[in-house]
Amino acid sequence: MQFFNHLESNVRGYIRSFPAVFKTATGSILVDEEGKQYIDFFSGAGTLNYGHNHPVFKKKLIEYLNEDGVVHGLDMATTAKKDFLTAFENVILKPRNLNYKIQFTGPTGTNAVEAALKIARLAKQRANIVSFTGGFHGVTMGSVAATGNVLYRSGAGVPLDNTTFMPYEKYLGVEHDSLDYIRKFIANTSSGVDLPAAFIVETVQGEGGVNVASPKWLRGLQAICREFDILLIIDDIQAGCGRTGQFFSFEGMGIEPDLVLLSKSLGGYGLPMSLVLLKPELDQWEPGQHNGTFRGNNLAFVAAAEAIHTFWSDESFSKELTVKSHRLQSDLFALKLRYPQAIKDVRGRGMLHGIQMHDPEKTKAVAERAFELGLLVERCGSEDEVLKIIPPLVIDEALMNEGMKIINQSISDVFENFHQAPAKIERKEYASQ
Ligand SMILES: *Cc1c(COP(=O)(O)O)cnc(C)c1O
Repeated sequence: MQFFNHLESNVRGYIRSFPAVFKTATGSILVDEEGKQYIDFFSGAGTLNYGHNHPVFKKKLIEYLNEDGVVHGLDMATTAKKDFLTAFENVILKPRNLNYKIQFTGPTGTNAVEAALKIARLAKQRANIVSFTGGFHGVTMGSVAATGNVLYRSGAGVPLDNTTFMPYEKYLGVEHDSLDYIRKFIANTSSGVDLPAAFIVETVQGEGGVNVASPKWLRGLQAICREFDILLIIDDIQAGCGRTGQFFSFEGMGIEPDLVLLSKSLGGYGLPMSLVLLKPELDQWEPGQHNGTFRGNNLAFVAAAEAIHTFWSDESFSKELTVKSHRLQSDLFALKLRYPQAIKDVRGRGMLHGIQMHDPEKTKAVAERAFELGLLVERCGSEDEVLKIIPPLVIDEALMNEGMKIINQSISDVFENFHQAPAKIERKEYASQ
């Protein structure tokens, strides 16, 4: 690590949580330079839903490169873009009866957020945006203004304005319906809150601590939007692309967002790519009014189209995810029963779950111990008190069980044998998958 520390900025983050030099990766396994294997319960923060180096996507990418397919094309028309748009329209939008236009933005999630905020402000001619406690939307100026966490906010260096925060579901406690609070502040002309152009919300707050909004709350939020002519932006950058069990996290809830943001796993192979889905009437851009050199990463288009064909052409993947997520949920409930002194809450949807500990220091110790034992698991939440469980969606049962065993062992080591030497866990060789 010394090598990285002397040259790379102090801002580096995950390298500190996972201090190894990773060399190769396949499926749900990473391998470091020493040949040590790690099970991946982190998936690049939700970017590797289909695992590392998926063989089918890899083949397509190599073919594309061998044929001298266009790699960089600004936002010009390319065959790769045409194939992606065709797949997205036929496999994702049409079967769900969704009528959106597609805007490609710069390649990272925050680029999609910035574009959506502009679209909303332009369309409604209002500056204010309502965001939610615990929300994470990225770290460029517009998106970090809509992000709750003080660490990210404090990095901005300028006042973060034109955003008003409202309580996410249960933020004020389970006995309060935060929708009552929100509606009052929007409806009342003396609340001091300017009528916003849009609400931007995650259906499950990935960075904010795996806080799950109920369908009822989301429908209530949408009703407030409709009543007061406010746009609803669903930031599906982390919760989308199958993470919660369906392609979009809001499917089947009676929600029709005006704008939807996708990134992270959209590019399929871990390749950067982002887009905004916008209702046609919101498409009020002048040509080129918003741009970016890397809109439309053609390699990502190739892998993304393949991911859509491979995983979303029929219901089988969603069904598989339902089974997997039920198993994960029951494992987590069992863990909570076993360690009530450690675990305050377990929660989540689909393959996005959190283990909230009573003590953030212990969460850190458990994550560190898990890393020693060969598992990547990251922390989230306002105090980093939640262990976030986001394995690749394609993980097989055996590896999932191994990973859960390591979490169990790590909690046991931290809480029960705290004053003894931690138990030795046998190191296994996993067949790469
Ligand atoms: C990761 C994330 C972003 C930002 O994406 P970047 O690629 O890091 O810019 C925005 N919103 C949500 C919900 C995210 O999880």
